[in-house]
Amino acid sequence: MKAMLLSQPGVPLVWSELADPRPDEHQVLIRVSACGVCRTDLHLIDGELPDPKLPVVPGHEIVGEVVATGTLVERFKPGDQVGVPWLGWTCGTCGYCKTGRENLCDRARFTGYHIDGGYAELTVADERYCFPLEGHRQAEAAPLLCAGLIGYRAWKLAGDAQRLGIYGFGAAAHIVAQLAVHSGQEVYAFTRKGDTVAQAFARQLGAVWAGDSTSTPPVRLDAALIFAPAGDLIPAALRVVTKGAAVVCAGIHMSDIPSFPYTLLWGERVLRSVANLTRADAAAFLPLANRVPVKTHTVVYPMTHANEALADLRAGRISGAAVLVPPGA
Ligand SMILES: [Zn+2]
Ligand SMILES: [Zn+2]
Repeated sequence: MKAMLLSQPGVPLVWSELADPRPDEHQVLIRVSACGVCRTDLHLIDGELPDPKLPVVPGHEIVGEVVATGTLVERFKPGDQVGVPWLGWTCGTCGYCKTGRENLCDRARFTGYHIDGGYAELTVADERYCFPLEGHRQAEAAPLLCAGLIGYRAWKLAGDAQRLGIYGFGAAAHIVAQLAVHSGQEVYAFTRKGDTVAQAFARQLGAVWAGDSTSTPPVRLDAALIFAPAGDLIPAALRVVTKGAAVVCAGIHMSDIPSFPYTLLWGERVLRSVANLTRADAAAFLPLANRVPVKTHTVVYPMTHANEALADLRAGRISGAAVLVPPGA
């Protein structure tokens, strides 16, 4: 099979011939039909994530068809449509795993980081961490598997908020905005300075206000989600939220946070991060995405053009989510 391979951080991916992966007893072999491109892939490629498997096939928003199963696989059979997320394996025995917080497991392994991912024609995944995708369409479903899931987890952790700020209006934000509007919240979208395309996109998805990340919205916000990897957004968000509001950082990596006066945090404002996802998040989010229904906006690239898709993501040229499709899929 062929795959886009990262040999070391800092160099472009190369379309490479690799041995077909073989499923172990708990794994399914999947023919990839689409794989989303996530900002985490950029952090991996830029060397901002510690200890990746190298070389590695990136990609953790995988949609495909099961073509073979390991001897102990119970949930899937050949022909099933399946989704593979970022969380690829957890220990099941640590304090985090035993208290419903497998997203924090110290021994967790992540798809497209510690385990070869979906920028490939074929991949294997532990069936216990895969999701059935009946009712979700191929390329459109891919962004649900990370942007959607992490966005959903961040949104839940923001608590009840009538006025929700969203910083960084990319793949996750465009999904969360639909959940928020569906549940009756007002969405305030913050983008890079002068990014009128993203601001128009946000309004089209129901945002009541859209502006630059440094601007002040007309009202105080009850919560804010930060999807962009810029640490200076943290004091910016704290400055525009009400007392008691949560500011939730959803990225795996951020630039340093500038110092800011304690008065910005005072008043029981809460600053927190969101890490990874649990399978329970997926069990709640995927049916909700169907009910809303969430419509993902995708920009589809041939998988061999993954470097171009990553460059477009880095430059902020994508409205919605980039998705790679392998040859012949
Ligand atoms: Zn664990
Ligand atoms: Zn991701």
